[in-house]
Amino acid sequence: MTKKTLIIGAGGVGNVVAFKCAMNNKSFGDITLASRTISKCDTIAKNIKDRVGVDIKTASVDADSVDELVTLFNEIKPDIVINVALPYQDLSIMDACVECGVDYLDTANYEHPDTAKFEYKEQWARDEAFKEANIMGLLGSGFDPGVTNVFCAYAQKHYFDEIHYIDILDCNDGDHGYPFATNFNPEINLREVSANGRYWEDEKWIETKPMEIKQVWDYPEVGKRDSYLLYHEEMESLVKHIKGLKRIRFFMTFGESYLTHMRCLENVGMLGIEEVEHNGCKIVPIQFLKTLLPDPASLGERTKGKTNIGIYAKGIKDGKEKSIYIYQVSDHEKCYKEVMSQAVSYTTGVPAMIGAKLMLENIWHKSGVWNMEQFDPDPFMEELNKQGLPWQVIEY
Ligand code: NDP
Repeated sequence: MTKKTLIIGAGGVGNVVAFKCAMNNKSFGDITLASRTISKCDTIAKNIKDRVGVDIKTASVDADSVDELVTLFNEIKPDIVINVALPYQDLSIMDACVECGVDYLDTANYEHPDTAKFEYKEQWARDEAFKEANIMGLLGSGFDPGVTNVFCAYAQKHYFDEIHYIDILDCNDGDHGYPFATNFNPEINLREVSANGRYWEDEKWIETKPMEIKQVWDYPEVGKRDSYLLYHEEMESLVKHIKGLKRIRFFMTFGESYLTHMRCLENVGMLGIEEVEHNGCKIVPIQFLKTLLPDPASLGERTKGKTNIGIYAKGIKDGKEKSIYIYQVSDHEKCYKEVMSQAVSYTTGVPAMIGAKLMLENIWHKSGVWNMEQFDPDPFMEELNKQGLPWQVIEY
């Protein structure tokens, strides 16, 4: 029977997922793209028709409302829901999936709209409900989280008896020509970057001030770049699933200009998430800032340069110490040429499509709520090479 796929969210990532599902429509069957603003879905559907020659349907939905979602799911009867709206919608979409018996996938873990804190607790708590409904939930199938988790599982499976140290290294060396813009949703991006850092060592979490720890990493095809320690969500599941781990950290590159803009915005209160009164209206500063900043989906056309995201792992094999570096390089202009999105959306959307493809093809399938590293990494790694995200391994 022809499969039915529902994608929720028509931003930069949703555009890539829709394109890539259409390009693999033997696996995805009838595709519907739904989002809050239907005109954005219609534009993407038209571009897909023009470039890929595949028709996809569109719909409007408020994904904060479980009732609206249930009505839509009952109309479409999807086999899978790919959630690439915002992390705030994770729980409502998961609950609607349980109600309708539909598999679920996302790329970012639940974030409380009013506490600037993200964690898996509420999503993991739905494991029983997913098992009872005999459906699968795959969490964090983007690049980081997502491919980085799969890289760790691949390193564990093929290169180590025990991994002791992991550094996740995320470099976006793209230049969009604006003085300041974020390359994915500004509210999510700025909340993540301006929060305290955190890493895990000797069984406990250690908190750092924002941007307190820096290292210079030499990224292949990019060069040496300042990389700052941040907290990032994949570490929460990796510390549970990678055996023997002693330390895991996450680093992201930032240029001086980005950091100066961010500090200035923070100092004047523009990153605030509490409502403030302005001329008789209530506004949330970071949401107002999002209105002023360029839409990340519009950056694609202007962005040049490369991304390089990978993991450096050190551990033991056959009693000897060894290290490996697994990484993937993407070119912003090449991504835009293929699917009309820059590399940050591309490197998130392609793994979302791959995770969903493996689920629909029953290659990765079991009921309950799972993280990426809990599955055999090999079929995912093969698909990365086929679907536009080729990777490299360096052994030391
Ligand atoms: P955008 O802001 O570009 O797009 C989000 C889309 O979701 C918009 O189309 C928006 O609608 C829609 N949306 C928001 N709220 C609702 C709602 N209540 N109901 C229905 N639709 C809604 O974000 P991105 O595409 O950049 O990011 C998408 C997701 O990918 C985010 O969760 C982000 O955290 C995640 N991500 C994950 C990465 C990874 O590597 N794992 C990396 C980058 C992003 P509207 O157009 O009306 O505003």
